[in-house]
Amino acid sequence: MTVTPVKTAKIKFNEHGMPYSPQFEDIYFDHSISCLQSEQVFINGNNIVQNWHDLHHNNDETEFVIAETGFGTGLNFLLTLEKFRQFKQQSGNTLLRLKFISCEKYPLSRQDLQQALALWPQYQHDSEILLKQYIFNDTALTRMSFLDGLVNLDIYFCDAVQAFQQIDVIEHSLVDAWYLDGFAPSCNSDMWSDELFSEVARLAKLKSSLATFTVASIVKNGLAKVGYKIQKQKSSLNSNDAANKNETLSAIFLGERKGKPLNGFKRRNAINIEKPKHVSIIGGGLASACSALALAKKGIHSVIYCKDKGIAQGASGNAVGAIYPLLHQEQDTISKFYQQGFEHALKTYQQLLKDGYEFGHGFDGLIDVSYKDALVKRQQLFSEKNAWPHNLIHAIDSEQVDSISNIKVGHPGLFMPRAGWVCPPELVSAMMQAAVDTGFCKIKTNRHINHIKQLDNGRWLIQSNKEQKQVQHLVICAGADSLKIALLNDLPLSQVRGQVSQMQTNDKVSDLKTVLCHKGYLTPQYKNNHCIGATFDKDDGDIEPRRQDDIYNINMLEKCLGDISDFTIDDVQSSKARLRCCTPDHLPMVGQLPNMVLHKQYYQHLSKDKNWQFAEPAPIHQGLYVLTGLGARGLCSAPLLADILVAEICDEHYPVDEEMLFNLSPNRFIIRDLIKRKTC
Ligand code: SAM
Repeated sequence: MTVTPVKTAKIKFNEHGMPYSPQFEDIYFDHSISCLQSEQVFINGNNIVQNWHDLHHNNDETEFVIAETGFGTGLNFLLTLEKFRQFKQQSGNTLLRLKFISCEKYPLSRQDLQQALALWPQYQHDSEILLKQYIFNDTALTRMSFLDGLVNLDIYFCDAVQAFQQIDVIEHSLVDAWYLDGFAPSCNSDMWSDELFSEVARLAKLKSSLATFTVASIVKNGLAKVGYKIQKQKSSLNSNDAANKNETLSAIFLGERKGKPLNGFKRRNAINIEKPKHVSIIGGGLASACSALALAKKGIHSVIYCKDKGIAQGASGNAVGAIYPLLHQEQDTISKFYQQGFEHALKTYQQLLKDGYEFGHGFDGLIDVSYKDALVKRQQLFSEKNAWPHNLIHAIDSEQVDSISNIKVGHPGLFMPRAGWVCPPELVSAMMQAAVDTGFCKIKTNRHINHIKQLDNGRWLIQSNKEQKQVQHLVICAGADSLKIALLNDLPLSQVRGQVSQMQTNDKVSDLKTVLCHKGYLTPQYKNNHCIGATFDKDDGDIEPRRQDDIYNINMLEKCLGDISDFTIDDVQSSKARLRCCTPDHLPMVGQLPNMVLHKQYYQHLSKDKNWQFAEPAPIHQGLYVLTGLGARGLCSAPLLADILVAEICDEHYPVDEEMLFNLSPNRFIIRDLIKRKTC
């Protein structure tokens, strides 16, 4: 390869001391908004700090690679270095190293660089180290080291395409995050070439991220062509990209889809050309709260319509609920979903606590007690198959059960160290408050939606006891009330009554630290009460508490775990019966409501050939979404489902893969029925 001699940039400093390129007629950075722009566009746009924490948590990667176009003054690098230093201090991580690869066709002279960096006294120490190592010559690559060798910076002093072409990698295995900087396409069209986008994709790891300050179509289209899924971000800052002041771009590298094309009925087509501004949500429980908060984080307004006087009166109304994933011995579809949902839920709830919102909780673990021979055998199989990470679930002997639970249980068990319990109404209230505090969410209580209809203009008419409204995007998070909504009649939802009994604590159980699961469950005390439960009565819609159900809960606890608590009916402080909304395959549903009539027309041939490939994407009722069927596991699944919903509403990258998406899709039942020839 011929290496072009490096020419230094001829730059000027404007009246505010900011470096300016007469060649590109643009400034290098806008000092008036500090480093906020770099931080927002590149660091937040790539979710860099969270990614480092995730890697630290999973302990599974030792090097994080960022690649950048246009080193310029090195501000992005210095800011990233500082964030990395802070991450190390906060997390105590010793393993992770950072590699930052950049390129620069027109480097600043050392003198200009020094003058530009003097504007950032907070980075003086690192700037000096950078300046000492800032040597470029015609060999094109300069390697520098920071933070005692934990951070390495490679700068290729040549054109971006030339630079990245020099890097050899095994297929898609190098870059975790791209910073596409460089002057705007309007002033530097040469750099934003198809060759550059190909190099970017060649070096990107699958599912890696990319961020850039420009939303110019040449960039969006170029990236989409090489396998990026584009997401626009709203910026709260004014950028100097004259064409697009308020938007920046993030993207995920999905690569080209390999193997068979995805069957049409599994495809969810992009419906919304523009990200919606407003979404209406029916339901006042956890699913609504998670949806409203997830929407608010994307800058989308929502109104929650809750039929009761207060929120969380339905299935989210029990005083204490356990949060843990449903795990089988093998990594099957259900377990994988709940594993992912659990991790997502923990993160969401812990973030809420970090943000200062309060709700009763205890994440001291949950023990699934092996109280009979068949369960001891199951426990052995769990250990033998070893399908799950130790910090998710592992077997413990009966002494460990006693010591971890802090009471005498006397059986071995499967321990989930990060599981626990929360007070669902407090959680819902905290989450809705967090959504309201963003300014993007309003809650309307005492609004019973009694009629939903699609109008000729495509909008949805919703009628409540108080008002009538037309809305473009409507989400139904109505739990068991979904069964009363005529439009959802074709979905195979059922309601299951469950009664939970709140028991006065006593000397035997007051020290219990973990949730104990048997055929039912016993939670640690919260406000002097334990919850035990729950009954399971299919198609029983009555929510009046029953004395015989309290007796059932007490007896079930005694039958499984013996005299662990000595509870009697006199210890019952209160009881609540609520209705769970269930699906036949125990997975929830999220997504746009399928148009059943068209499904039967389009996909009829499935009854003859279940492997037939259809081009037609799943026909849906546009703008009407459901998030329902959470059963008794909403605490574990709702945050992930809400993020899937929002990804669908915004046409962004889904947080689950295509197969999982179909397993959660409201149209999976009609498709399975067509295959089994159950429909006509
Ligand atoms: N990332 C920089 C920072 O943190 O200070 C700012 C980058 S500045 C806005 C754009 C840089 O891209 C300039 O230094 C310019 O010389 C460089 N550049 C422009 N075209 C390039 C190309 N084709 N290859 C490599 N660098 C290029």
